[in-house]
Amino acid sequence: MERKGSVVVEGIAAGAVCFLNLDYETRLQRYVKEDAEREKEKYEKARTSAGEDLCSLLQNREDLTESEVEILEAHQLLMEDISFQDAISDYMEKGESAPEAVLKAVSDFKAMFDEIDDEYLRERQKDIIDVGNRFLRKLLGMKEFSIEGENVVLCAKDIEPSLMASLSEKQVKAVLLENGSKTSHAVIIAKSKGFVTMVGVSLNPEEISEGENVIVDANQGVIYLNPSEKEMENYRELAKKQEEQKKYLAERAKLPARTRDGKNVTVAANISGEQDMEKALSLGCEGVGLFRTEFLFMDREELPGEEQQFLAYREVAEKAEGNLCIIRTLDIGGDKHCSALGLSPEENPFLGFRAIRICLAKKEMFKIQLRAIYRAGVYGKVGIMIPMVSSLSEILETKKLAEEVKEELLAEKIPFAKDVPLGIMVETPSASIMAPVFARHVDFFSIGTNDLVQYTLAVDRGNQSVGYLYDYFNPAVLHSIYRIVTSAHEAGIWAGMCGEMAGDKLALPFLLALGMDELSMSPSQAPGIKEQIRNMDSSGINLDEILSLTDAGEVREYLKKC
Ligand code: PEP
Ligand code: MG
Repeated sequence: MERKGSVVVEGIAAGAVCFLNLDYETRLQRYVKEDAEREKEKYEKARTSAGEDLCSLLQNREDLTESEVEILEAHQLLMEDISFQDAISDYMEKGESAPEAVLKAVSDFKAMFDEIDDEYLRERQKDIIDVGNRFLRKLLGMKEFSIEGENVVLCAKDIEPSLMASLSEKQVKAVLLENGSKTSHAVIIAKSKGFVTMVGVSLNPEEISEGENVIVDANQGVIYLNPSEKEMENYRELAKKQEEQKKYLAERAKLPARTRDGKNVTVAANISGEQDMEKALSLGCEGVGLFRTEFLFMDREELPGEEQQFLAYREVAEKAEGNLCIIRTLDIGGDKHCSALGLSPEENPFLGFRAIRICLAKKEMFKIQLRAIYRAGVYGKVGIMIPMVSSLSEILETKKLAEEVKEELLAEKIPFAKDVPLGIMVETPSASIMAPVFARHVDFFSIGTNDLVQYTLAVDRGNQSVGYLYDYFNPAVLHSIYRIVTSAHEAGIWAGMCGEMAGDKLALPFLLALGMDELSMSPSQAPGIKEQIRNMDSSGINLDEILSLTDAGEVREYLKKC
């Protein structure tokens, strides 16, 4: 049986299906309710089993951080809490099923916590929700999420970027998502991990069961469920070719990216943690063009302190073999959540309290990050990059804070690097329009096409239903990029790109004709892009002709011929 999907990370892989199924609603609809006594029995069984899970997690304490232990212990207490248990029992006596009773009791307790003024106590409602979910998973026959074995094809409706970041490359080979797009952060992380990925795919557990095999051909956009021996044979052949090509490119990855007519382009890595550095270097990346530091802040109870950040940045700087590592300051917001910041949900998160806006409102937190970066600069070349800049005042305020931080470090006699370049992501239309002005105040520009496209074209980068409009080959975007690069060069600063467009081979003729100084991408793309640059002659590319085209389709056709 075949299914189709939209390719977001190319390649071919095969493995056993694993459902990341947190869809309570479907399971609830299918739940068979019995009489109150029976529901109570089922509930007690679920509670005992959830309690046993917690005990065994706590027995392996050496695998847990201190705050994880605290949370699990709080969950144990809540599982025994009389008023919580009474509330669940009352609902079952009134005729609710066990899962409905849990949901209603959790909702009552949550409402009670909402009323509390104390922020710490209000935060505890998360524990009630977590414990309720533990009971529900037992009652609805859902497994705790864990991946077993190797060669796994993970299937999910949605996946949090932080969960994607925690998946192991040794286990997961491919990811199939119902929602998502090329530039949703979960997919960007999947790409950096080398997971073959498709979106717009909803596999039904009725047509394929957990553990059964699929082939994911994300070159053709086809998924083969329970493949035949012939399909497997075909797959093995294609996978072999893919491996050979990867090996060939990896062997040449460290050669410089110089065009036939002698133009050099720095090919750098997009990383989301120090753990990505080794792979980036082995695949020929020349430094880091984008360190997405928000991944140090996500999925944790407390914000990372100066020391923790310093150690992460220092490790990246030390490993970079003397190349520049650009550390982007915190870019939380949009589809990246940070519970430790305690922000309220927003109607329009991509247009809301995000990135530099949060940092300038929480200056103490921002200064800690800046201190850690300046200190790491002693151990290698680092740069600071501000995300989502939309006005000059944000640049000036950041520079003022940076000066304050340096003065404080000096007074405290803590070693730090004095000359750390400070640049901005150009990813909002206002930054593009104001590029000639902004360029006079910063040391470099890096174009964030993922956001620049969504803000320029008014198309949500993660919304699949408007995905057909999301296109960096749209001439409006090309003109914006042209303006940014020209403004940078006129002001005597360098211009790079760290959005997904930088790793697209089809875009290369345009980017080289513009004279882009640096391209930063997911490390797995670097060998192929460097090879393509080496095979190109940029002198023959006519930039004016590309900029005269009026439609994305025409642009693509033109670039294919370059
Ligand atoms: C971008 O917007 O292009 C970018 C590189 O940053 P992010 O994807 O993290 O928003
Ligand atoms: Mg961005």
